[in-house]
Amino acid sequence: MDLDDMASFCKKTGIIFQNSEIYGGLSGFWDYGPVGAQIKKNMVDLWWEEFVEKRDDVVGIDGSIISSSEVWKASGHVDSFSDPLVDCKKCKKRMRADRLIEEETGEKVEGEGPGKMDSIIEEKNISCPRCGGSLTDVREFNLMFETNLGSVDSEENKAYLRPETAQLIFTNFKQVVDSTRQKLPFGIAQIGRAFRNEVSPRNFVFRTREFGQMEIEYFVHPDNKKKCPFIDEEIRSYELQVLTAEHQRGGEGHERMTIGELVDGGYAETEWLAYWLYQHFNWFVKLGVDPKNLRLREHMEDELAHYAGSCFDIEYNFPFGWDEVYGNADRGDYDLRRHQEASGKKLGVYDQNKEEHVLPRVVSEPSQGIERSLMVFLMDAYTVEDGRKFLELDPRLAPVKCRIFPLMPKDGLDQKAREIYSSLDDRINVEYEESGSIGKRYARADEIGVPYCITVDYDTLEDDTVTIRDRNSTDQIRVVIDELYDVLKDLVFGDKTFEEFLEES
Ligand code: ATP
Repeated sequence: MDLDDMASFCKKTGIIFQNSEIYGGLSGFWDYGPVGAQIKKNMVDLWWEEFVEKRDDVVGIDGSIISSSEVWKASGHVDSFSDPLVDCKKCKKRMRADRLIEEETGEKVEGEGPGKMDSIIEEKNISCPRCGGSLTDVREFNLMFETNLGSVDSEENKAYLRPETAQLIFTNFKQVVDSTRQKLPFGIAQIGRAFRNEVSPRNFVFRTREFGQMEIEYFVHPDNKKKCPFIDEEIRSYELQVLTAEHQRGGEGHERMTIGELVDGGYAETEWLAYWLYQHFNWFVKLGVDPKNLRLREHMEDELAHYAGSCFDIEYNFPFGWDEVYGNADRGDYDLRRHQEASGKKLGVYDQNKEEHVLPRVVSEPSQGIERSLMVFLMDAYTVEDGRKFLELDPRLAPVKCRIFPLMPKDGLDQKAREIYSSLDDRINVEYEESGSIGKRYARADEIGVPYCITVDYDTLEDDTVTIRDRNSTDQIRVVIDELYDVLKDLVFGDKTFEEFLEES
């Protein structure tokens, strides 16, 4: 499925709509429809459950979208959160200079200064891809959305919409420590909206101006930055596809590597970083994404911020090529130190063992885009088989877990089906449907990824049993109504597979 097909599929099924569409659309902004809002909620809840609720060493916060401009000055965003721009002198088309150079020469120049890009443009004779016109000099364009607080437009009242959720974790760090008494090592997680005034939003919801992020900052004692106590043999032997900096320099493709090799080969600077890369890579896999479509990409030296240790992305094989869904860097103590200096407040924690205050080190900053993750799940789940289209979503992600149909909406079948619906509705996300033929109802359910459909037929009235149909195989089992909830629960939460029920029946 290409991106246009994906966008029209999402529109038709109520997953994602263009924002302000009735007024011609607003570039870089998208809205979730009823189906998409539910899938997104399920995805975000699963992330929070896995990385916050189930862990004693991670706590969550939920910060404001707008913060004082002091925050963004200290973090460096006001001065340097920018993309390089060029304009065509003839047709006035505005483009990201690094992307243009990459498209024209295949050379990766992200992170290079405007001067270097100007010389490449001159050397390689790069002109406007639309009209062939010559280009202006490259200049930096700040991506921060600015706003004013209150009625007076002044420097003092200037504030910014956050371009990432992470900084709020640093500014609230001390309050989290004081209120929760967390001891190092521990993480602080946050899920929320972020805003970037992207020069050219594109690739459906891959690059937008408003998007969601799921982030963690993981803090350790600076003396314990290497060894992660959670890495065991099972994790060390986990295999995944990795594109190292070496591969990229040599123009080679990725190779399979274990987490152990990632650490021992010196690719991941610390065990901690490797541990968290494993955690998030495996999160996608556990929720059904084919690991062949995922890989880790090590950042090249010139992509790294001056304070960062090693950094890896998780990339997905999108229709437009491999691209980033998630980034994770070892940030050292850069952010806490910057905020400590700028605010004049001590942000260290007390180390009881050594009886001293230390500034913790961030060994891992997993940052995952919500829209890009959703694209991964949708792309990977979209299946066309024997003329049937279905979304092979993990039942936990599915917008509705089960639809309940009467074979025909008459002869008491509808009443019975409604009774079953009412008995399940409080406990699991189910829907009742009776319009159209049973085949059409199955097709509509398949299309949005409903994993199971219950049909009430004439036998139900005799023996109180119904059929449950499995979306992926279209196989059916017959189940006693009294046992329906338990069976559905097992199926949806992965305690038992449909095949196991089928074998038993
Ligand atoms: P890119 O290089 O693609 O611009 P980035 O490296 O600037 O991304 P980060 O700052 O590392 O991105 O942000 C972390 C995550 O937030 C990304 O991996 C991505 O999933 C998501 N993200 C960042 N920018 C956007 C955007 N404009 N639209 C949608 N998601 C985004």
